[in-house]
Amino acid sequence: MSKKVIIIGSGFSSLSAACYLAKSGFKVVIYEKNKTIGGRARQLKKDGFTFDIGPSWYWMPDIFEKFFADFGKKTSDYYVLNKLSPAYRVFFTDDIITIEDSLDKICVEFERIEKGSSKHLKKFIASAQENYRIAIDKIVLKPGNSPFELVTKDTILKLDQFFKTISGEVRKKFKNPKLVATLEFPVLFLGAKPNNTPSFYSFMNYADFGLGTWHPNGGMFEVVKAMQDLSQELGVQINTASGIEKILVKNKKTVGVITNGKTELCDIVLSGADYHHSETLLDKVYRQYSESYWSKKTFAPSSLLFYVAFDKKLSNVEHHNLFFDTDFELHAEEIYDQPKWPTAPLFYANFPSITDKTMSPEGCETAFFLIPIAPGLEDTPELRNQYFDLILNRFQDKTGQHIENHIIFKESFCVNDFIEEYNSYKGNAYGLANTLLQTAFLRPKLKSRKVENLFFTGQLTVPGPGVPPALISGKLVSELIVKDNNQ
Ligand SMILES: Cc1cc2nc3c(=O)[nH]c(=O)nc-3n(C[C@H](O)[C@H](O)[C@H](O)COP(=O)(O)OP(=O)(O)OC[C@H]3O[C@@H](n4cnc5c(N)ncnc54)[C@H](O)[C@@H]3O)c2cc1C
Repeated sequence: MSKKVIIIGSGFSSLSAACYLAKSGFKVVIYEKNKTIGGRARQLKKDGFTFDIGPSWYWMPDIFEKFFADFGKKTSDYYVLNKLSPAYRVFFTDDIITIEDSLDKICVEFERIEKGSSKHLKKFIASAQENYRIAIDKIVLKPGNSPFELVTKDTILKLDQFFKTISGEVRKKFKNPKLVATLEFPVLFLGAKPNNTPSFYSFMNYADFGLGTWHPNGGMFEVVKAMQDLSQELGVQINTASGIEKILVKNKKTVGVITNGKTELCDIVLSGADYHHSETLLDKVYRQYSESYWSKKTFAPSSLLFYVAFDKKLSNVEHHNLFFDTDFELHAEEIYDQPKWPTAPLFYANFPSITDKTMSPEGCETAFFLIPIAPGLEDTPELRNQYFDLILNRFQDKTGQHIENHIIFKESFCVNDFIEEYNSYKGNAYGLANTLLQTAFLRPKLKSRKVENLFFTGQLTVPGPGVPPALISGKLVSELIVKDNNQ
């Protein structure tokens, strides 16, 4: 008889693991606390407007393709992808940089800003491409058990890049602060400051300028739906509104869980919920990491988000827009070093209905604004409103339009919601940052050291934050489970 795995949560990492485990012959049952699946990547639909609640940048299309190929499928069996052209726009105090959909076109824009910079850019991206190959082929597919996993011929040659920072490398080659900020932007997805992120992570720049920015028609939630369909084709059972209250352990082995007051027995438990929360579902004696361990870690930022419906089309913006018209250093310091509400935040604005008609009613615009903030900040309706007014004023000013009176409705999401909806540690938005000391084998482990047949996956373990890493995390943990259970 096949062994039964209970998976806690239905985020990308859980759905990925569910597919691999079901394919390997396990009976897989998912329990999700919320009414809908997808975790951080859930969807909000209201009055004809469609919002992705979390991720909106579809980067590294090769990882998604590889995931579906592992099941003999293609992404196009489930959703339609479009390469965005331009990929995005960056607003500065005195200029706007448009990132087009090919390196040659981006070189033209770099030359406009700094003469001679395109030569450096081509070299930088060629090295970033090499790092991408090494990262994807040699590093991220390792389970993070030992430092020796990182020792390969390729990584030894790149060793210095683990001790230099991306910020230092970029500044050596580019002088213009706008180009520096544009090249430092991709590593923000890893959750740490560019001056605390190893320069090896320049592979994110290749993901950006080399592989491009994509959009699944209908939004990122289409990927969740695709994985739900695939998992169900493979026999996975999904239960929503079913929070796990306790992980049951007998003789140091997981035997089941309690959900909605009922005991559900199984052979293996895998948690895709935030790692810190997952361990609180265990009796103290079975937890591997103390509160003091978590409190010393560098978490990715939390976010203040606004989902806004406009009754008209907006001008002078693209699908993705970054507002870097304030001091990045100060904002980063207020996220990581002296956590407080930002004095003058950078922010991101997303208008998917500009390229995808299905996202809003005709003649209207679907908007999503994001301000990164430190996890654990006080979160009140007054603060949310104050920051909405602040960014809307800046947005109107920078884009030269008055849209305040065109808002049909507005919803917000912040620290308290991350805690309430996802059991997120201090309301972090996207997990544990990928700093040098929180990379690979230095991250919380996929397999419990204290309880047999208890496993973890997701953005607080390997490889780290982001949708593509979540797909990989699910694959890695399923391989460990298969190996441990001789399936
Ligand atoms: C605002 C925002 C923007 C982002 N933008 C991007 C982007 O543009 N591109 C990108 O690649 N990535 C982005 N990310 C990161 C990406 O969304 C995440 O890294 C990824 O979705 C995390 O997946 P996960 O499976 O690790 O965790 P989650 O999605 O958090 O899944 C965990 C699940 O566990 C459930 N759960 C928690 N406790 C319990 C319990 N006790 N019982 C049952 N279920 C439980 C939760 O409800 C949740 O569904 C963004 C994230 C956020 C928040």
